[in-house]
Amino acid sequence: MTGKPEAADGGLSHCPYCALQCGIELRPASAGHGSQPVRRTGRGDTGDGTHGDGPALEVVGRAAFPVNEGALCGKGASAAELLSPRLRLTTPLIRDERGAELRPASWEEALDRVARELGARDPEAVAIFGGGSLTNEKAYQLGRFARTVLKTPNIDYNGRFCMSSVAAAQNRAFGVDRGLPFPVRDVRRARAILLVGANPAETMPPIMRHFAAAREAGATLITVDPRRTRTAELADRHLQPVPGSDLALALAMLHIAVAEGLVDEQYVAERTNGFDDARRIATAYWPERVERLTGVPVAAMYQTVTTLAEAARAAREAALQNTVAQNAVPTNTETEIGGAMILTARGTEQHSKGTDTVNAWINLALALGLPGRPGSGYGALTGQGNGQGGREHGQKSDQLPGYRKLDDPAAREHVAAVWGIDPDELPGPGPSATELLARCGRDVDGAESADAGDGADGTSGAAAPGRIDALLVMGSNLLVSAPGAAQTEARLRSLGFLAVCDLVLSETAAIADVVLPSAQWAEETGTMTNLEGRILLRPAAIAPHPGVRTDLEILAELAARLGGKLSADPAEVFAELGRASAGGIADYSAVTHERLERGEELYWPCGEQSPDGTPRLFERAFPTADGRARFVPVDYRPSAEEPDDQYPYRLTTGRVLAQYQSGAQTRRVDVLNQAAPEPFVELHPDLARALGVAEGAAVSVVSRRGTATAAARISRAIRPDTVFMPFHWPGQGRANSVTNPALDPISKMPEFKTCAVRLELPSQVAGAEAGADL
Ligand code: SF4
Repeated sequence: MTGKPEAADGGLSHCPYCALQCGIELRPASAGHGSQPVRRTGRGDTGDGTHGDGPALEVVGRAAFPVNEGALCGKGASAAELLSPRLRLTTPLIRDERGAELRPASWEEALDRVARELGARDPEAVAIFGGGSLTNEKAYQLGRFARTVLKTPNIDYNGRFCMSSVAAAQNRAFGVDRGLPFPVRDVRRARAILLVGANPAETMPPIMRHFAAAREAGATLITVDPRRTRTAELADRHLQPVPGSDLALALAMLHIAVAEGLVDEQYVAERTNGFDDARRIATAYWPERVERLTGVPVAAMYQTVTTLAEAARAAREAALQNTVAQNAVPTNTETEIGGAMILTARGTEQHSKGTDTVNAWINLALALGLPGRPGSGYGALTGQGNGQGGREHGQKSDQLPGYRKLDDPAAREHVAAVWGIDPDELPGPGPSATELLARCGRDVDGAESADAGDGADGTSGAAAPGRIDALLVMGSNLLVSAPGAAQTEARLRSLGFLAVCDLVLSETAAIADVVLPSAQWAEETGTMTNLEGRILLRPAAIAPHPGVRTDLEILAELAARLGGKLSADPAEVFAELGRASAGGIADYSAVTHERLERGEELYWPCGEQSPDGTPRLFERAFPTADGRARFVPVDYRPSAEEPDDQYPYRLTTGRVLAQYQSGAQTRRVDVLNQAAPEPFVELHPDLARALGVAEGAAVSVVSRRGTATAAARISRAIRPDTVFMPFHWPGQGRANSVTNPALDPISKMPEFKTCAVRLELPSQVAGAEAGADL
């Protein structure tokens, strides 16, 4: 399978946006629907942006795919729009010298330039930055390219910004990191669901049908969020803590579970270790104390724990009766009634204590006996399209394929053998994303290296020992998505060389020296791993635009110029990925493109021990040395930056329904832009009144790092001590000009979800750092 059909008519695929990976069909548009013309014939033309000689295409939901059952959000429904040459890049671009404009170039010239610039520097001075939307094949090949062709340790990706805390926490507790350790349809079986720091009604709306089905069957849905989001509106109860305080909330709930005798003692004794230490810490978090820390009423804490524990107890008793009645072990079928679930997302993770916070919620789930029980458990809603697979196969700074660790001699030996090199040739672990960016170029003051941020516990964010002078970015828009974005922008602008592979001229691509236009989801074959750990094939559905190349082709071309050899064939690369992952935690060795094409449902691990995959983890044991889950003793600490006299409020950031991540793609789609055309500052009426801010008036959010200015949106959905900004936009309204790059010391995730700010009307802002209007 080459991934390049000569004349395709569309076909079955998956949405290119979020981790739900909704099943779709791409087909010729019916009258009055669909994208701009996108189909081409043949290739070889570098393109000038005028191609468009075929019929329009439209996306429809696939009813047979059990995750979305035909439902789509507006982003997925309009995904064909970006295939139009009107909106995308169709030719390589080169900047001849700093200050010059980007000009169209041939592929030969552009690839030669990138290879020359990367190859001319010391391996320590070059770096790769990947993305969580890249296919498994690309994520794998990017890691191999960095470590065997460039021979550099400097590779990380934007998943550090959104999912690394839950990855670290799950590894600590369960010995494995898979977003949901069960199919998403198991949510329908739960009878109590606690959603913490998650707003799926806006980020992945089709998943709400599973929550709705659970509620129709009698489940109670409880949300924890500083904002009364659309998801909170749909829930039975909403707890509204101060941003950054839910670690204390989880400790109080464990305290209540212990005090009220709601702990599943048998489960804790038989399936876990370390409860005594976790319980000892929770003892200090009595509910009245935590009400003062979080703002959540004591009664709401009790009600939540009781609801979860009662659902868990009822499921245990039902399972016991079932076992006695059938004289057999209970089966874990889709019809069996479940217990309780605790699900978290970015609101829990994006803090300088995000890993500990996730572990606090996992501790509560373990105390109530949830993980591994039917229709019960702990899970994380991953964010980016391949947020799961993208962190398993080697584009992360500390990892090798199969979720192997780069500092593990046995892992190095296994992967080196697949790659045909000596293990000693493999570089060691490199810097995490924020640390890597802090080593690039110079900051706004002209300094070469920087501290990547101090953790809340005083842990250094790793001072940079070596300067990075050349960077290749694939599928990431750092000028909008990185924390402390003004510093990131200064650093990338001052690099000796910057190359970007992307579909569109993102803000980051616009400042690059070379831009390489990539083929898109519908134009190339590849696999994605969704939030359930389900591996999905996205076959090429249409011929690629003649002016673009696949990312695998780009890496193969660059490798050839640098003396290496990499395949550009996605099936070949996937087969190699399978061999490299064999025996690892995320074992894909029994998965093939052919099996996926036949429609087999395969969840990892899927290898020699489990050739048909593993839809549900933890049913019998946890993949730890002794088969038991681990309570991690975690304690509350304040955020890295708490409000003070100068910056008296908190800023929290997030997403809106019609935009996706940095907005590089969705801001180009008319229907999405009309629905969400610009950033805003959401603030409570009491705060607006106190500051004299009117609805729609420009308001500036000012932190120690910068300023973002946008129209005020006055709403009772937000706490009076907190303001909210979506982070999808560049320019004056760039929320990440304000956010704090302080890192979680374990996951190295920045603290996007809370920082101290003051609010000013623009006329009051002295010397405001509004950021370049990109
Ligand atoms: Fe695409 Fe996610 Fe929307 Fe589904 S929910 S259509 S995967 S963006």
